[in-house]
Amino acid sequence: MTARRPCIAGNWKMNTDRDAAVALAESLATQDSPSCELVVAPPYPFLHPVGEALRGSASERAGQDVCYESAGAWTGAVSAAMLRSVGCSHVIVGHSERRLHFGETDETVNRRVRASLDEGLIAIICVGESLQERELDQTLDVVTRQLRSALSGIPHDGSERFLVAYEPVWAIGTGHVATPEQAQEVHAAIRAELASRDRSLSESTRILYGGSVKPGNAAALFAQPDVDGGLVGGASLDGESFLAIARAAE
Ligand code: PEP
Repeated sequence: MTARRPCIAGNWKMNTDRDAAVALAESLATQDSPSCELVVAPPYPFLHPVGEALRGSASERAGQDVCYESAGAWTGAVSAAMLRSVGCSHVIVGHSERRLHFGETDETVNRRVRASLDEGLIAIICVGESLQERELDQTLDVVTRQLRSALSGIPHDGSERFLVAYEPVWAIGTGHVATPEQAQEVHAAIRAELASRDRSLSESTRILYGGSVKPGNAAALFAQPDVDGGLVGGASLDGESFLAIARAAE
């Protein structure tokens, strides 16, 4: 079994302004922990100043989304190469808010994953069921379908090219966190799906939990054998909370 280094990723969504983004990055810059990978996803306009503020630290940056095309008449879109050019190492793909508000589908999520990997970005692939799907006992089917589709046509080349983030839609921004047992059940199913593609891929791939992670509930979630860290929204907007969550993953 490969030891997986925990990863905590902060999704700032459409929050902060330039000064607040830089201040938040500065609060993280001095606190790097070698045993836990830290990634932050600021709004696009702040990727560069946040990079400057993080200079010399081990924290990495992610785009919150990416276009599947590489250039051209795609007003408002940002390509994988653009994210690379401002120093991003990661990109969040298929977040439920993108699926819900911007019409992203399993098919376009797959195209986004491909565009990201082609450019050498590590994709943080988000999957997760709605409340209705959970109540109808469809959680594992939905999550497996989303993951299969996101990875369609993508061969495993032995390197780490993506992480998976399990984010139950009903837990995002609601304060209703999944129980550690609920998270573990789905994470184990995700790992089993990865194993059906490649055993070493399944052992090395980090699967993050996302949905109302806070300093007070993080340790119990991260103690589950298949939970390798978190994708954190609201609590990532406060440096102390984010670092407390990171410490819970160590
Ligand atoms: C998210 O948006 O990815 C998320 C998990 O948000 P929150 O932590 O606020 O629920």
